[in-house]
Amino acid sequence: MKTYDAIVVGAGLAGLQTARLLAERDHRILLVDRKSALDQSIHTTGIFVRRTLEDFALPADCLGPPVRHVTVYSPHRRSMELVSPDDEFRVGRMGLLYQRFLEQAIRAGVEWMPSTAYVNHTRQTNETIVRLDGPTNSCFVHSRYIIGADGANSRVGRDLGLEVNRKWIVGVEEVLRGVPLDGPPRFHCFLDPRLAPGYLAWLVHDGEEVHLGVGGYAARFDPMKALRVFRASVNDIVDLSSAKVIERRGGRIPVGGVLRNIANDRGLLVGDAAGAVSPLTAGGLDPCMRLSTFAAKVVADYLDTDDLSALKAYSGDLFRARFISRLWMRRMMAVTQSPALVEFGCAMLRLPLINLLAWHVFFGRGSFPDLDLNFAPQPAAST
Ligand SMILES: Cc1cc2nc3c(=O)[nH]c(=O)nc-3n(C[C@H](O)[C@H](O)[C@H](O)COP(=O)(O)OP(=O)(O)OC[C@H]3O[C@@H](n4cnc5c(N)ncnc54)[C@H](O)[C@@H]3O)c2cc1C
Repeated sequence: MKTYDAIVVGAGLAGLQTARLLAERDHRILLVDRKSALDQSIHTTGIFVRRTLEDFALPADCLGPPVRHVTVYSPHRRSMELVSPDDEFRVGRMGLLYQRFLEQAIRAGVEWMPSTAYVNHTRQTNETIVRLDGPTNSCFVHSRYIIGADGANSRVGRDLGLEVNRKWIVGVEEVLRGVPLDGPPRFHCFLDPRLAPGYLAWLVHDGEEVHLGVGGYAARFDPMKALRVFRASVNDIVDLSSAKVIERRGGRIPVGGVLRNIANDRGLLVGDAAGAVSPLTAGGLDPCMRLSTFAAKVVADYLDTDDLSALKAYSGDLFRARFISRLWMRRMMAVTQSPALVEFGCAMLRLPLINLLAWHVFFGRGSFPDLDLNFAPQPAAST
């Protein structure tokens, strides 16, 4: 039976980042994903915010053109413009980006098993035996530690006895090509509880691709129907007459804030599995990169020293404080079901103070705590 220092379950952004960084610290890492190829079943729009683009080296050819303009629409389609002097967003070409991250991880020494699902694990003294199901057979591997990067509905989290996500919204979108761009690249946000109860509908046009989507609480709408209605309603904003749908995406977005109990002596959670998504904007890519980088540091320190206290820093309780105001705003969005009330809220956005708040939501830099992203090993304690 093969033995690893850590097995990373899930090769989304969180798993890829954690696996590579651990391998760079010379640990023996196995990365598995049930997908056979990482450009399959993508479930993110891929909007990266300025903070991520500044702090992480994402390959430029995997990103679309910068976006500085945001237009917010009320249920009656009254619009308000927000324009930043900076490049605020870029839409990732996610299939390519995952592939590039995977190549970097493999170069760093990560062993990669596609088409391989994590099934369960059992604990033995200092090691864990993990059962993996491949396309034709099952296999078992030994691992000192397990990292659950398996998304919003984490099986690893359940098996480890850690906290699991209980609050989420769902999002669906179409990716289109062949749409003429009139004006600068733009992020259009539609606040309308009939189309997107508790969240928003979006249309992002960066000049190369258009992402058209709706999100909201699953119990309150039919996402596919809402997407059709939304698409039919944007003709005065974009010309979709020659548009070609190149992809359909969708999935769950955890919005309960980072979970409290996300690590123990057997394993820990990163990314969506840890609930690391802004409850307000539902942006998960920045938290995912930050938390994964921090997780890799903590796990590497633990594997280097065998000292379980290294894991103590990895507590959701420590990160949640940053989410308090966002969790309150999420609750407000969840209960606001009346289009008239949202219309009123949108009118309020014109008031300087509220406008500043909107500016902060779209262009602010505070989606996730500033964690120690310095990945160097801990200096040895002096005696
Ligand atoms: C429609 C939609 C649009 C979004 N748009 C944005 C956006 O524009 N910007 C933003 O910041 N955030 C966005 N988000 C949120 C963001 O995409 C996620 O927070 C982020 O992608 C989470 O990455 P992850 O690596 O944690 O999980 P995932 O990307 O979900 O990766 C989990 C991986 O685990 C694998 N897996 C699961 N179970 C198993 C198993 N048992 N065995 C093996 N493998 C397994 C899956 O195949 C998958 O590859 C969006 C979410 C949705 C649903």
